[in-house]
Amino acid sequence: MGRIVVPEAEALLDVELKVLDKGFVRLVDYMGGDQRIVQAARVSYGAGTKSVRQDRALIHYLIKHWHTSPFEQVQLTFHAKMPIFIARQWIRHRTARLNEISGRYSIMKDEFYLPDPDKVSFQSTDNKQGRGETLPLDQAEAVIAQLEADQKHLYSEYTKMIEGGVARELARTNLPLSLYTEWYWQIDLHNLFHFIRLRADSHAQYEIRAYAEALAQCAKAVAPMAFEAFEEHILGSVTFSRAEGEALSRMLAGGEAGLEEKPLKVLMDKIEKMRSNQPSEAPDDLQVP
Ligand SMILES: Cc1cc2nc3c(=O)[nH]c(=O)nc-3n(C[C@H](O)[C@H](O)[C@H](O)COP(=O)(O)OP(=O)(O)OC[C@H]3O[C@@H](n4cnc5c(N)ncnc54)[C@H](O)[C@@H]3O)c2cc1C
Repeated sequence: MGRIVVPEAEALLDVELKVLDKGFVRLVDYMGGDQRIVQAARVSYGAGTKSVRQDRALIHYLIKHWHTSPFEQVQLTFHAKMPIFIARQWIRHRTARLNEISGRYSIMKDEFYLPDPDKVSFQSTDNKQGRGETLPLDQAEAVIAQLEADQKHLYSEYTKMIEGGVARELARTNLPLSLYTEWYWQIDLHNLFHFIRLRADSHAQYEIRAYAEALAQCAKAVAPMAFEAFEEHILGSVTFSRAEGEALSRMLAGGEAGLEEKPLKVLMDKIEKMRSNQPSEAPDDLQVP
């Protein structure tokens, strides 16, 4: 079998998926797809002509049983543009290759992130790493105006230094985290799923979730069966600690959970996540076909 061409992915190539106010994710190229995963896996499990139904069952089986290496055979290359504070979170995912615009070589563009008013929130009171209630509109607009004024001021100081001949690598050092940067980023499907699992999660910051959703759209186009299996067995799954499992057993037997306050809330949130999941469409037979 030669190069795998996936029509849904071909249609998405070079399309800028808009993210936040000035960012984007663009699928530059891909290698492989569902068929490559199946081919690679059948090196382990034996070749032979298989139906689409059997391929789908195999892909579900692989993901369900953490047989992840066939998914590393699929590669995706993106061009993405994001604020620096998002780039700092993104770059923590080490299992990728990237090339970023250089602020030593290039003049940084006058492009800064400004949130929409409905994304301007108070600090959460129960989650030290998260947002709580949205600010009233007039207060949110005042915050945005403040952010914008600071950005304009810092960029004008940057421009003055550049015009005065100061080295670009030094002049850029006072630019804020809201400045947009861009890079080429290449990752395999297994590690992209890992990224999406962590960064599309409700505990991740809203702004990186927006990028994770655009990346997910591309992953789904390149390998739709694998993405379906990922949604079924990983994104849609819920894991319980041993204590939570014991509490669940007590509840299923008609008793009380036996947990209090935060641990009880965490358990109830997980149960709520299960309830709000989409209906499952996983194949019934998940044996290696
Ligand atoms: C909601 C949220 C909050 C976070 N808060 C913070 C924070 O406050 N401070 C902070 O510093 N980080 C924070 N992080 C970042 C987090 O700790 C991880 O660094 C990040 O999510 C990348 O995960 P990873 O290492 O699994 O991914 P990758 O680097 O892509 O690695 C993927 C997998 O490859 C393996 N791997 C990769 N490199 C190595 C290695 N050198 N040795 C062994 N195994 C390796 C591991 O199994 C790893 O899980 C946060 C992440 C999330 C999602």
